[in-house]
Amino acid sequence: QVKHVAIYGKGGIGKSCTASNVAAACAEKGLRVLMVGCDPKSDSTITLVGRRIPTMMDLIRAGGEIAEEDVVFEGYGGVRCIEVGGPEPGVGCAGRGIIVAIEFLRKVSKVLDEIDLTLYDVPGDIVCGGFSAPIRKGLVTEAYIITSGEYMPIYAANNICRGLRRLNTPLAGVICNSREAAGEREIVEKFARELGSEMVAFIPKDPIVQRCERRGVSVIEGAPDSEIAQVYRRLAEHVAGDSKPRHPSPIDDDKLRELSLI
Ligand code: ATP
Ligand code: MG
Repeated sequence: QVKHVAIYGKGGIGKSCTASNVAAACAEKGLRVLMVGCDPKSDSTITLVGRRIPTMMDLIRAGGEIAEEDVVFEGYGGVRCIEVGGPEPGVGCAGRGIIVAIEFLRKVSKVLDEIDLTLYDVPGDIVCGGFSAPIRKGLVTEAYIITSGEYMPIYAANNICRGLRRLNTPLAGVICNSREAAGEREIVEKFARELGSEMVAFIPKDPIVQRCERRGVSVIEGAPDSEIAQVYRRLAEHVAGDSKPRHPSPIDDDKLRELSLI
């Protein structure tokens, strides 16, 4: 069945990097993948296409005729890539942009009907309209949350669960992107369990990730034989496979504090 997955997590935790590597790993397995960058930074697809692609919002604002090939770009392994782009700074809302862009995409392209998996890379800020827009539009069927074992990303992850709960969207798993914090694996495993979910991947902190990023490639493309590429492939199995998303139960702040003391 077709899956529409959103990747959430605190700003800077590794959403774009993880999403693009998972997209590349799924494509490598033969899946037809669409990567939708919803962050105004429009950096979700750079390592798939090898360069920054034009954003839909910029094109729509510029007016004139827009065709599919102006907004849908083919990246590594045939991954279809789009970047929604941002609102004009100071006016407008990223969430509105996502809705406009997807409606527009439906008009000019059949890509949404020709894929097995959509990955949404969503802005980290949960109070931004960009957080809920893809869900409200019924575009997202399940979510993954990325965190490290540090207090702030876990705090953000717990808040994201509150948001998911409110929006009635199930959580398919918690991904630990390691910052090499003490007791990290145990902390994230326990946190995920408390939410009623599970830690589905532990991604080590590895300089290969940034080296590939600088070259404009995913780890799957740039270092296919590395251990970290294997980690992303295993995560891709989960994302593309038979995940059992469940509605998360956010935990209270005292419990959160206890967790970070493990
Ligand atoms: P934002 O909220 O700003 O969009 P993000 O959550 O999308 O941020 P990324 O841009 O994916 O975060 O990652 C931030 C930085 O951390 C990047 O330079 C990325 O290469 C690096 N990074 C992510 N994961 C790893 C890892 N496992 N090992 C080493 N570096 C990593
Ligand atoms: Mg990002």
